[in-house]
Amino acid sequence: MTTEFLRADGPDSEAVSRAAEILRSGGIVAIPTETVYGLAGNALDAETVKKIYRAKGRPSDNPLIVHIAKIQDWRPLVEEIPERAMALAERFWPGPLTVILKKSAVIPDEICGGLDTVAVRMPSDKIAAAIIEKSGMPLAAPSANTSGRPSPTSARHVAEDLSGKIDAIVDGGACSVGIESTVISLAGDRPRLLRPGGITPQMLREVLGEIEIDHGVFASLAEDEKAASPGMKYKHYAPSAEVFLLRGSLERYREYIRDNQREGDIALCFTGEEKELSVPYVTYGKKDSPEDQARHIFDALRKIDEMGGKRVFARFPESEGVGLGVYNRMLRAAAFKIIEV
Ligand code: AMP
Ligand code: MG
Repeated sequence: MTTEFLRADGPDSEAVSRAAEILRSGGIVAIPTETVYGLAGNALDAETVKKIYRAKGRPSDNPLIVHIAKIQDWRPLVEEIPERAMALAERFWPGPLTVILKKSAVIPDEICGGLDTVAVRMPSDKIAAAIIEKSGMPLAAPSANTSGRPSPTSARHVAEDLSGKIDAIVDGGACSVGIESTVISLAGDRPRLLRPGGITPQMLREVLGEIEIDHGVFASLAEDEKAASPGMKYKHYAPSAEVFLLRGSLERYREYIRDNQREGDIALCFTGEEKELSVPYVTYGKKDSPEDQARHIFDALRKIDEMGGKRVFARFPESEGVGLGVYNRMLRAAAFKIIEV
């Protein structure tokens, strides 16, 4: 299949109309959002949803997020919207927050990996919102990458993975958040954070009071353990190189690399720390800005592959605020391998 490449300068552009047209006829289109690029298709059509899984090579038990353009469009997708869910939507939508509730009958089973719940989000990106609005339907849209690879934060990243496998790619420039949405489940007795992102635990607590943080956010799940968020059990966000997270000062980090270095090593450090490193490096944002790290982390992981890196020594990110999202992605890219230096 040839993939149409559509450059969108804004919500009124021709690219938006064309993308909506392809989506209405059952096609799948990569679209920009504020988190990462999403691979969109009609969420209410099982055949379209299957095409999304196939193009990504995504395991069928890993459910998709449904994207809407207006809060009113949420109602038909779920059994009911509890008060606290509406409070979250009013505070954080449109924005990088996904809310899980019990699903209604219109949601095809294919989309929710056999669960009785559905994840919904309303993106703030103007181009994404215009495409959803113009297509006139809720859009299922997982990250537009090959399953397991670092998520795409530019149209080029999408093309690397999915060119020839999907109907079109809309290029709307770089993503402003850069990591996937925060996912919270309100389907159980207590609010449970399943994936950290741009909306922080602190921000959620301001609306919900206490929340539980699923242990999968910090730790690897055992082989036989049932994942609350099925996406968390898979190896994720990983470059082909083997990644290690080094915990300790910048000085000890440099020494460790120097003392252990081999051909094919790459340092994944914060911007400005490149000096005096004994191996090639890639930077992933400023040390004191988790927001900056979030915008650069996936591009940095892809660059490592382009450089043919074999081993990667990464600086350890802070886990406060948006940093918890960066830390969670890094842990998975490193398959939980931490070295104390
Ligand atoms: P992606 O769209 O690729 O960013 O991945 C969506 C994430 O949301 C994955 O980690 C899924 O496992 C998770 N997710 C989606 N729907 C549900 C659901 N109904 N229950 C639990 N987790 C979900
Ligand atoms: Mg993904």
